[in-house]
Amino acid sequence: MSFNLATMLRESALAQPDKDFLRFPGGARTFAEVDGAAGAVAVALRARGLAPGDKVAVLLPNVPEFVVAYFGILKAGLVMVPLNPLLKAGEIAYHLADSDARLLIAADAVAQEAARALREVPAVEPVVVGDLDTGKWPESVTAFADLLAAGDDGELYPGAADDTAVLLYTSGTTGRPKGAELSHFSLYMTCTIGSETFGTVPDDVVLAVLPFFHVYGLSSILNASARNARTVSILPRFETGAVLAAIERDRITVMAGVPTMYHALAAADSSGYDTSSLRIGSSGGAPIPEQVLRAFEAKYGIPVLEGYGLSESASTATVNPGADNRKVLSIGKPIWGVQLRIVDDEGTPLPPGPEHVGEIVLRGHSITKGYYKRPEETAQAFRGGWFHTGDLAYADEDGFVYVVDRKKDLVIRGGFNVYPREVEELLYRHPAVAEAAVLGEPDERLGEEVVAVVSLKPGGHAEPDEIVAWAKERIAAYKYPRRVRIVPELPKGPTGKITKVPLRQSTADGPGRG
Ligand code: ATP
Repeated sequence: MSFNLATMLRESALAQPDKDFLRFPGGARTFAEVDGAAGAVAVALRARGLAPGDKVAVLLPNVPEFVVAYFGILKAGLVMVPLNPLLKAGEIAYHLADSDARLLIAADAVAQEAARALREVPAVEPVVVGDLDTGKWPESVTAFADLLAAGDDGELYPGAADDTAVLLYTSGTTGRPKGAELSHFSLYMTCTIGSETFGTVPDDVVLAVLPFFHVYGLSSILNASARNARTVSILPRFETGAVLAAIERDRITVMAGVPTMYHALAAADSSGYDTSSLRIGSSGGAPIPEQVLRAFEAKYGIPVLEGYGLSESASTATVNPGADNRKVLSIGKPIWGVQLRIVDDEGTPLPPGPEHVGEIVLRGHSITKGYYKRPEETAQAFRGGWFHTGDLAYADEDGFVYVVDRKKDLVIRGGFNVYPREVEELLYRHPAVAEAAVLGEPDERLGEEVVAVVSLKPGGHAEPDEIVAWAKERIAAYKYPRRVRIVPELPKGPTGKITKVPLRQSTADGPGRG
């Protein structure tokens, strides 16, 4: 059996050629236009001598060319390696070398870093999107526009369903980034079942501000929209005014975001915008604090369904199955075909109940084939045949799953387990706190001490000691943060998720106002 993920785009283009697939500030492209352009890219890539299985890295923000390049790569039977355009030269070079990339499609805007990276890996051929300024690039450089001139021959490479379609680098909070291999079939199943469970309707218009180089944007937004012939409204970066304007302009019905986006939109002045087209939202990537969820829902009048997934599960592994069948604070239930267990350190499944916290392990169509060229790390992650997520959770009697925290974020204070998420949920209820991150800091006596880093709401006033005292009154003595550090803003990763790594370094500087 042969199968190519780009079939999704082809079928949608055949069924609805003139429907807008991509809308973006300043224009739109129909399904037929994107399909034809992707076909031309496939022809051009093959003509350059790239053979099925070869890797093509893409260093682009959310622009139409990302989508054209992606489906062109798939059509030619090549492997897409999406990279964050904010990476620095050394990081780009690492990813190009690790993935054995043969070609790099990059935005002209990142010329400086990309060109420096290419000096370290000279075998990689650059293709540039945007104004081609040859002074910045190595001599052998091609304009992306030239690839489009090739013309579509209608071919879809007939690979095997289990062939790798995308090599997705996980952000590497532990060790160096690893490339998770996601197959054509895995990505197809995940977006198909994910959007079926979520309840997509044909006229949905989906906000695509989450980056396409990350699994949530690539799988749950882009693939799912290609699969269901939905229109996608693309924004290259998150900014509340731009999002609200896009909602009004493109009549967006589905908001897909991470919790920090819901937080910013709940706090934004939306009075000048018509957001009445919105019907539903999805949140994932990190736990959404109840306070944030309720504030957003009250302001925009739509339900936000929380889901859960990882790069290694091709995005959605679990989701709340509908506005009438959801539990706030839960990540919902596994989607069709994904098996989920909560296990102890020996791999033994645990019974339901909040007292039975264990690690989430997964099996099924969504799950990665493994980490590229890393058999040992793959074997370690797949102990006992189940993929170990590193996330701690429990299930209730109805099968709804509650993530309590990441295993690596767990704080053990004087022998007691403290789940930072629980403490963060509390801090979000403090009237002056905008965002909160709780972590453990090495402590000679207790092993670890609980500390919090928070940002304040505009006009909010609080001193670190007051927040400590406020928390002390509301949570068990071993859990409340002994130190609070106030910073103007919490650091965010590529998707906008709060990232704790830089905080771990900065808390070493001591308590107080940052
Ligand atoms: P990062 O460190 O930037 O989160 P990562 O490399 O760990 O990235 P991703 O695949 O981007 O990998 O993120 C997956 C992780 O995000 C999960 O393992 C889990 O910890 C977290 N996550 C995703 N959705 C949720 C959710 N709804 N609730 C809690 N945690 C979530």
